[in-house]
Amino acid sequence: MEPVKYIWMDGELVDWDKATLHVLSHTLHYGTGVFEGIRAYETEQGPAIFRLDDHMRRLVRGAAAYNIPVNFSAEDLSKAAREVVSSNGLESCYIRPLLFLGTGSMGLNPVGAQPHAMIAAWRWGKYLGDAGFNEGITVGVSSWRRIHQSSLIPDAKATGPYLNSVLALLEANAAGFDEAILLNMEGYIAEGSGENLFAASDGILYTPPSHSGALTGITRDSVFRLLTDDGYEIRETNLSRSDIYYADEAFFTGTAAEVTPIREIDRRAIGTGQPGPITRRTQELFMDAVTGKLDAYRDWLDYA
Ligand code: PMP
Repeated sequence: MEPVKYIWMDGELVDWDKATLHVLSHTLHYGTGVFEGIRAYETEQGPAIFRLDDHMRRLVRGAAAYNIPVNFSAEDLSKAAREVVSSNGLESCYIRPLLFLGTGSMGLNPVGAQPHAMIAAWRWGKYLGDAGFNEGITVGVSSWRRIHQSSLIPDAKATGPYLNSVLALLEANAAGFDEAILLNMEGYIAEGSGENLFAASDGILYTPPSHSGALTGITRDSVFRLLTDDGYEIRETNLSRSDIYYADEAFFTGTAAEVTPIREIDRRAIGTGQPGPITRRTQELFMDAVTGKLDAYRDWLDYA
């Protein structure tokens, strides 16, 4: 990772190297934090942050769900994110906000631990590599199941629960796959370790419903609108492992992964084993929308 000049912490910009915290911070021990992943894209009008307010609203909502106190509103955090992008002179970047608890309590009950907020940004290319974006990636179904709503809150991006994604990704990589697919406790597809999943069969798109345990992704929602407006039918439905085996096409969506084609699952080629026309169209629409080339979706962009 290439450092930039400033990181925003608790209301001010501090030097990248000075953005540090105490080892007795509550979040470091118990995973009591929430975070976001946001991207800014280079456009003709300068850097544009994609669906910034939606990301910040999800962040603050997740903190509330886990009873993590926050000293800033979603609007304050959006303003701070714009400041991080502009003060660092970034044209395009990945933005990482984190709400966390510092010192003041070492018991499980975090009352007394100081709430903090930070936003960092750095230049980040294709999450699953240029080749992955262009030619597709391989995935394996994980032996780890997606966290269940009876134990945690799958729809909040909390730090501790991400160990579930880390376990699945490490297992997949060790087995030679680029990414993992996690099933839910009922055995239906939930999502990737950091992406939502879409499959296409006979021209119709399918994606697991939000109650599958998948995060309600902002890229997923954007792709939903882009494809629906483009005339495609999308059905939210439970998907089994074999539904993906039989699909003509499959792809992941996520802020980091954008729209990444899946060419192989469990060492079985999906369709022709190459990104198909619906996947290509989705990539094209999404990349055009985020870079301000589609007038109809300009309200998704927030100029830094
Ligand atoms: N699922 C998980 C587990 C994720 O971490 C992410 C990335 N935030 C996504 C799905 C995709 O969500 P989004 O499109 O909002 O980035």
